[in-house]
Amino acid sequence: MSVALEACPALVLNADFRPLSYFPLSLWPWQEAVKAIVADRVNVVSVYERTVRSPSWEIRLPSVISLKDYIPAARRPAFTRFNVFLRDRFSCQYCGDTLPSHDLTFDHVVPRSRGGRTTWGNVVTACAPCNLRKGSRMPDTCGMHPLHKPYRPTNWELQENGRAFPPHHLHHSWRDFLAYAEVKPRGEAPRPGKLLQRPVRRRDDDGFPSDMTSTDYWTIELDS
Ligand SMILES: [Zn+2]
Repeated sequence: MSVALEACPALVLNADFRPLSYFPLSLWPWQEAVKAIVADRVNVVSVYERTVRSPSWEIRLPSVISLKDYIPAARRPAFTRFNVFLRDRFSCQYCGDTLPSHDLTFDHVVPRSRGGRTTWGNVVTACAPCNLRKGSRMPDTCGMHPLHKPYRPTNWELQENGRAFPPHHLHHSWRDFLAYAEVKPRGEAPRPGKLLQRPVRRRDDDGFPSDMTSTDYWTIELDS
């Protein structure tokens, strides 16, 4: 039985063999990965059983690739909707509920109508009901204060937060490059290089969840 090509994304590692991103996990569709191999921009670290053929060549689809040129992390994370949610660990900063990203919105702590700006220091993750309840009132007026004071995070903090969200599907060849802690006690960093949670599903032939790949939506910088 042949595995669907869509179920064969490649885990993309930086030149230091760390994932470019934990959440969403840095995955390229097979077409992108093959293009990068042909362009000699990546090394193939591990492959799927699945092959693709053209009249003149045949290639095993890569399951893990590493960039030949190291991409240094930006010193400061981009101010995006996704990164705001990641900083707040996908939980509403008013009621504390953790929700899927499509059920979250963001709230200006000091409302825009009161001069509040769209900045790291004034924007928090909120669920729609809390966002509606707060409306354009000041925190003291409505008694709604964010659980954590909003701040500009570092890339390291976002990366650590991202590790708290292991994807549902992990191909076995990815394990050596990912470090997801099963239970992450507060304040204790997961041991690097060791996957504590074994993937539940190891088969490659089930549909690949599309929500694991990043979309343009998440990378659009918010207006400040
Ligand atoms: Zn809420």
